[in-house]
Amino acid sequence: MLPKRNRTTPMVPKTVLKKYYGYDSFRPLQEEIITHILSGGDCLVLMPTGGGKSVCFQIPAIMMEGTALVISPLISLMKDQVDILRGNGIEAASLNSSLNASEAREIVEECRRGHIKLLYISPERLNSTSAWIKENIRVSMVVVDEAHCISMWGHDFRPEYTQLGNLHDLFPGVPVAAFTATADKVTREDIMTHLDIRGRKLFLASFDRPNLSLSVVSGLNEKARKDRIVSIARRHPEESGIIYCTTRKSTEEVALDLRIRGISCAHYHAGLSSEERKNIQEDFKMGRIQIVCATVAFGMGIDKADVRFVIHYNMPLSIESYYQEIGRGGRDGMPCETVLFYNLQDLVTLKRFVEESGQKEVAADKLRRMQDFAESTVCRRRILLNYFGETTSRNCGNCDVCRNPPHRFDGTELVQKMLSAVMRTGQRVSSTGAIDILLGEKTPNIVKWGFDQIKTFGVGSDIPREDWQAYLMQMVHLGYVEIDVLNYRHLLVTPLGKEVLYGRQSAELSVPKKKESRSRKHKEQPSILSVEGEDKILLSALKDLRNRIAQEEKVPAYIILSDKSILSIIERKPSTEEEFGECFGIGEAKRDRYGERFVRLVNLYSDRLKLEPEYDDGEWTFLGERVEGTYTFEKLLKTVKKKLYMGNDRSWTPQIDKELLSLHDQGISNVEIAAKMGRKTKQVRSRLQRLKRWHRELRQSCSPDQIPDMKGLLNYFS
Ligand code: ADP
Ligand code: ZN
Repeated sequence: MLPKRNRTTPMVPKTVLKKYYGYDSFRPLQEEIITHILSGGDCLVLMPTGGGKSVCFQIPAIMMEGTALVISPLISLMKDQVDILRGNGIEAASLNSSLNASEAREIVEECRRGHIKLLYISPERLNSTSAWIKENIRVSMVVVDEAHCISMWGHDFRPEYTQLGNLHDLFPGVPVAAFTATADKVTREDIMTHLDIRGRKLFLASFDRPNLSLSVVSGLNEKARKDRIVSIARRHPEESGIIYCTTRKSTEEVALDLRIRGISCAHYHAGLSSEERKNIQEDFKMGRIQIVCATVAFGMGIDKADVRFVIHYNMPLSIESYYQEIGRGGRDGMPCETVLFYNLQDLVTLKRFVEESGQKEVAADKLRRMQDFAESTVCRRRILLNYFGETTSRNCGNCDVCRNPPHRFDGTELVQKMLSAVMRTGQRVSSTGAIDILLGEKTPNIVKWGFDQIKTFGVGSDIPREDWQAYLMQMVHLGYVEIDVLNYRHLLVTPLGKEVLYGRQSAELSVPKKKESRSRKHKEQPSILSVEGEDKILLSALKDLRNRIAQEEKVPAYIILSDKSILSIIERKPSTEEEFGECFGIGEAKRDRYGERFVRLVNLYSDRLKLEPEYDDGEWTFLGERVEGTYTFEKLLKTVKKKLYMGNDRSWTPQIDKELLSLHDQGISNVEIAAKMGRKTKQVRSRLQRLKRWHRELRQSCSPDQIPDMKGLLNYFS
């Protein structure tokens, strides 16, 4: 008889992918990379953030004998990766400076026994222990993650990385695989040379991230931007988002504004203590804070898979930064909405940064490209891909330009009005002043300079201020007018502008975006995890169970199950653990560990289970309602809904209740909540009590596992 081991089919990469990760197919290049490494080859892999690099080295590591060393620069990233691997039933550990001596010894012992398939290690730790590793661990391969850190040309040079040059001498015959999301050519060559990648084998994946929708909203003032952000956040209830701001002050203002409107939000910038910053990162990752308003300081450590929207409150200084920042969204491959706000005021501020920067010319050029992107009337993704050296002839269909192509019109008259106003002030007016003149607004400044006396005063009052701002921006971009950054930001009419002003040339403008989108509101993206009707409550319940398990295991929710897995469960409604294992992203380990709890939940919500209400005074009752002996969950919810929203007091709606709970959860006192909501303190107190009581009753009728938290329930009612 053959030994047992030989009778099972040998593992191929695809079986491993299914067994451990629960995915059915590879993404482009993943399989080629895995095969290349398995055949003993070195390589450098360039893939965008969220492209799926980890699988490319984890699968060979699982399949090869021994332990793979993964060199990684940040402890927080290591911890995340190890949690994910363990969650998928793969033995992994990390060796870094945060461990004490005995913890480190234990891990080392495990490696020696050959139990660990992947060992994450910091470069400095590797440098200090390489001799020991060589002696005690059978190294299957060496992975250099974030490999751009080795290059002085990369944007994140780390001196510790330069000592990685002798990997081949240290571990002869062992494949070295380097990974990075940084694209530029110099860095790429540098990595190849420093790490001595044999055969200089490069795998270059597309940098396209089709799941990120792109849009630019121009011309809004601060107040309008904040309103827009609130509406975006409300469209993504309980989904994570990042808002990037240029200044510390604006992170604080925007965060405060959102909190006042009942949205959970924190600000984050380099002025906070490292303790505060760590807590915010952790709370964000664990889903305790929905949104972070941050400066660029909120960066590389953010490895959260389920960020569903990224907003740029101000325009970044370069396309590189912009792409990297929006790249932090949608890493799980599910849709993520990105919005860039942009107006003339921003441009003026940014130009000042450029003036003050050390490399003025380079910086000015980068800003110019960023501006071109923001003002473009062609598919934005094409511009981005083009910028990163990939050409495509297809329009993406997932950016604002594609969804809503610009309508152009003959704007000669508008340009003439604007330029004439500017000329008549002697070119001594800023953009705000010029628009005030066109609108006919007698502000103190206008009166002081006598601009209310000029001929063009009020000739543009039929056009809203926002539109004038958008038109003026187009005029700047089209080269009719310039902003004199060094001289009070006064507008200057260019020679080309004079051609239009004096009727020797016509000018084409496009209708400001916002105006069109008003009639196309239905095109706005809904929440990713949005489902219809009855499934709403199941969604809330699944998310809630996921959160509860995440809390029990002290890991972020997306490590338990991804959003895509949750949708797959809703779609398939698995009634057995086996069916659960067939849902997207559920490998064997997750099936065995969580199957039972999730299946029980799905069965309850699919009304496959019957419930027993309370037996009281000779009658079956629930919340004081008489009911039949057994009944379904759906009925039970209907009873609650009736009690909460169809009684005498109809001034409360699920939306208002949600706001109430948000404020309450932020620890705001009932007195303050009452003031904010325009109600009496007594009303607020009794409403909160009522909500809590009924939630408790529901949980008692089923089990806490099955009833979502209160906000989840309200989602169902709304
Ligand atoms: P990065 O390139 O940023 O390191 P990750 O390796 O973290 O990206 O992968 C991003 C996400 O894509 C992860 O949630 C990962 O599990 C998922 N993923 C990777 N490969 C596949 C695949 N073949 N099918 C489905 N999801 C995948
Ligand atoms: Zn497009």
